[in-house]
Amino acid sequence: MRCYCCSSKPFKTCCEPFIKGVEFPSSAEQLMRSRFSAYATAHYQYILETYTKEKQQGLSIENLAQNAQGATWFALQVHPAFADSSVHGNAKVEAADEADSHSKPITAIVEFTAYYFENKNMYQLHESSNFIVEEGKWRYHDGELHNDCGKIKYGRNLPCVCGSNKKFKQCCGLKNHSY
Ligand SMILES: [Zn+2]
Ligand SMILES: [Zn+2]
Repeated sequence: MRCYCCSSKPFKTCCEPFIKGVEFPSSAEQLMRSRFSAYATAHYQYILETYTKEKQQGLSIENLAQNAQGATWFALQVHPAFADSSVHGNAKVEAADEADSHSKPITAIVEFTAYYFENKNMYQLHESSNFIVEEGKWRYHDGELHNDCGKIKYGRNLPCVCGSNKKFKQCCGLKNHSY
C-alpha cells in the first residue's frame, strides 16, 4: 500500500517504522510526513510524542483525538524547500551531535498542504511548520497557517491532489460521497 503521506514508497518502509517507534525521522520533512500519516491512521500517541516538550504540556491524547474527530485526512503535498536555505526540511539530524548544539538549536521549516474531508466538504490546510531537534530527535513545535486554508472546491476531472496521476473522482474523491 502506498504511504498515506503520498510519497511513492509503501507505508511499511515510509512512515510506519516511525509511527511504531522502530526508527526515528532523520529530517524535519520525514517527521512532518509521519505525523500526517499518524493523523490519517489515528495514532494520536505518536502525534503527542512528536510535539516539543513545551507544546506537550497543554496536550493530551484525548484532546488531540477530539480535535481530529470528523476529519478524514487523505492527501499531502510537501512544498519544495528554498534551495539556498540552510534550515530547510532536509537538514540532517546528525548535526545535533556537534559540540555547539547546546548554544544554537537546530531548526527547520517545512511548508505543506494537507487535504481532508469533513462533513462531505473538502478542506485544505496550508502551513509552514517549525521543527526543532530536541534530545537528538526532530519534534514539531508550531506552525503558521497561510491565507488559503479552509473549504475548497476541487474539480472532479482534475488530476488528484495526492499525485497518483488519476482523476480526482477516480481516486481520493471516492472517499467522499459528494464527489
Ligand atoms: Zn510516508
Ligand atoms: Zn488521490
